[in-house]
Amino acid sequence: MSVKLEDVLKDENLIKNIEEIAKDTALLHGVLMRTKETPNSPEVVSYAPITLFPTPVPTALFHQALAVQTHFNRLVDRVSQDPTFLEETLASTIKVDDFTARLFSIYKQVQQEHLPQSIVLGLNRSDYMLDHRPGGGTSLKQIEINTIAASFGKCLTQISLASRTPDVHRHILKVANLPEECDRVLDNNPAAGLARGLAKAWQLYGSERAVVMFLVEEVQRNIYDHRYVENELWKRNIPVIRRQFEDVCRTGSLDQSKRLFVDGREIAIVYFRNGYMPQNYTSERSWEARLMMERSLAVKCPDISTHLAGTKKVQQELARPGVLERFFPDEPETVAQIRATFAGLYTLDMGEDGDKTVAMALANPDQYVLKPQREGGGNNIYGSEICEVLKNLKNSSERTAYILMDKIQPVPVQNYLLRPGAPLRPNSCLSELGAFGAYVRKGKDMVFNECVGHLLRTKSSEHADGGVAAGVAVLDNPLLV
Ligand code: ADP
Ligand code: MG
Ligand code: MG
Repeated sequence: MSVKLEDVLKDENLIKNIEEIAKDTALLHGVLMRTKETPNSPEVVSYAPITLFPTPVPTALFHQALAVQTHFNRLVDRVSQDPTFLEETLASTIKVDDFTARLFSIYKQVQQEHLPQSIVLGLNRSDYMLDHRPGGGTSLKQIEINTIAASFGKCLTQISLASRTPDVHRHILKVANLPEECDRVLDNNPAAGLARGLAKAWQLYGSERAVVMFLVEEVQRNIYDHRYVENELWKRNIPVIRRQFEDVCRTGSLDQSKRLFVDGREIAIVYFRNGYMPQNYTSERSWEARLMMERSLAVKCPDISTHLAGTKKVQQELARPGVLERFFPDEPETVAQIRATFAGLYTLDMGEDGDKTVAMALANPDQYVLKPQREGGGNNIYGSEICEVLKNLKNSSERTAYILMDKIQPVPVQNYLLRPGAPLRPNSCLSELGAFGAYVRKGKDMVFNECVGHLLRTKSSEHADGGVAAGVAVLDNPLLV
C-alpha cells in the first residue's frame, strides 16, 4: 500500500469530510439500490454499500485471475457436457442433499429427452482470495466458481454497478489528495460483456419477436443492477421481460417444438437471477416451472447441467489429481494455470479418503472451512463448529453433503465501509476478487469466450463468511500495486 493512502486512512477529519462527498458521488454515478423498507418501489433509493477507498491488490495476481478465466469458462462448459463425470461426482451428494438431488433429477430428465437446444450461454464468476503464508509469499486462491446468478440478485453483489464504482473511487482519491493513484483503478464493465453474450445467444436463437426473460425474485432491491443489462439489450432492439417463478407457473407453456411461451411471449433466453437456493422454490410449482424451462428450446443462462457444474462437490472433485487432465488431455499449460489457483479440497465421501478428511479437520479445525452444497453466503462452518458437526456426522453418510477446504488466509487491510444508516468506522477488512467469464457455444463451436470484467467485494474481517446475499460484503475496486 502506498504510504500516502495509509496516512489518509488515519486522518479522521479528512475521512469525515470525504464521507458525504463519497455517498453523493456514488449516487451521482448510479451506484444505487432500493431500500430495505421499500424494495419494490423506485420512490426512495439509496447508494449501494461501498468501501471508502479502493483496496490494494498486487497487479500480477489481478492479471492472473483475469488470464485464467477463459480456461475456467471452457472447464465449466466441458464439465457440464460430461454426464458420466457429473453423475459419478454427485452420486454421494445427491443421496443426502435434497436440493442438489432435485436439480439432478431435472438434469436426468432433460438428458433422457434429448435437449432440443444446442446453444449454451454461460456467465460465471470465479472468486478468489489472496492467500498469505508467512515466508511463503502471497498467492491467488480460488474460493469457488458461481455458475448461476453469478451476480446474486438477493442483496448486493453487482455485475453492473461494478462499472460505476471506478469513477466513484477515482473521485474520492482526488478529493483525498491522492490524484496520482487514480490510474491504478481500472475501468471495468462486466455487464456490457454479459449483454454481448446475451445478444449473441439471442441472435443465434433466431427469432426477432422472441424475448429475453430475466427470472427474478420477489424482493427487487438490486433491480438497478439488472436494469443496466436490460437496457443494454433494449439498445440493441432485443426485448426484455422480467418474470418470477410464479408467473412462469401461471402462464408458461411449451408448444409442439418445445418453444417456451410466458404471458404469450416466446422466450429466446431465460436468464436466471433466481433459483440458486432451496428457498427460491416456494412450492412444487416452482420446481415444475424450472423443469419446463429446462426442457424448452429457450437458451438457459445457465442450463441445469452448467448449474450442477458449479456445485462445491464438483469443485472438490476437479482438484483431485488427474481430473483436470480428463477435461484438457492435450493442454498441460491450461491445466497448470487452472490448478495453480486451487486451494486444498478434500472429499467427505464414505471410505478411507473421507475418514482421513474427518481426522484432519478434527485435529486442526482452524485451518479449514466446511462447506455444504449451498449458495448465497452464510452457510459455511468454521473452527470449533466444524468439530461439532463432524463429530455428529462422523460415521454417517450425511457427511457427504459437505466438502472440506483449506482456509485461505488473506492479510487484513484497513478501510472504511459506507453503508446506508450505519456509522462510519475504521475496519480491518478482507477482500474477495471475482473474475467474470461469459461464453456462448453452438453445438461444438465456442463462438464467444471472454473474461468480461472483475468485481472486488470487501467485508469487515469480523465476518468470517462474507456471503454477499447475507448482506455483509460491500463493493470495492482493486487499487493495483
Ligand atoms: P457461497 O456460494 O455461499 O458464496 P463461498 O464458497 O463463496 O460460498 O463461501 C462464502 C464465503 O465464505 C466466501 O465469500 C468467503 O468469505 C468465505 N470462504 C469460503 N471459502 C473459504 C476458504 N477456503 N477460506 C477462507 N474463507 C472462505
Ligand atoms: Mg457461490
Ligand atoms: Mg461465494
